[in-house]
Amino acid sequence: MAVRTRLSICLKKTRYASEAGALEVAAKADFPLRPYRCDRCWQFHLTGRTKGKRIPRVLRNHDVEPLA
Ligand SMILES: [Zn+2]
Repeated sequence: MAVRTRLSICLKKTRYASEAGALEVAAKADFPLRPYRCDRCWQFHLTGRTKGKRIPRVLRNHDVEPLA
């Protein structure tokens, strides 16, 4: 289950001492960010990757009005 973080990524990213602190910053961002614990520095970083966030296909099939 452990998320492996590359050291180069760890060094580039901002570190947050606590998840709460990371969440606070994430809340202010214009795009979705989520904190995760880094296994290199054991602090928190934010990631903008929203893996697992699926766009429901239902929206495509419904509510589509033909332009013609
Ligand atoms: Zn790190």
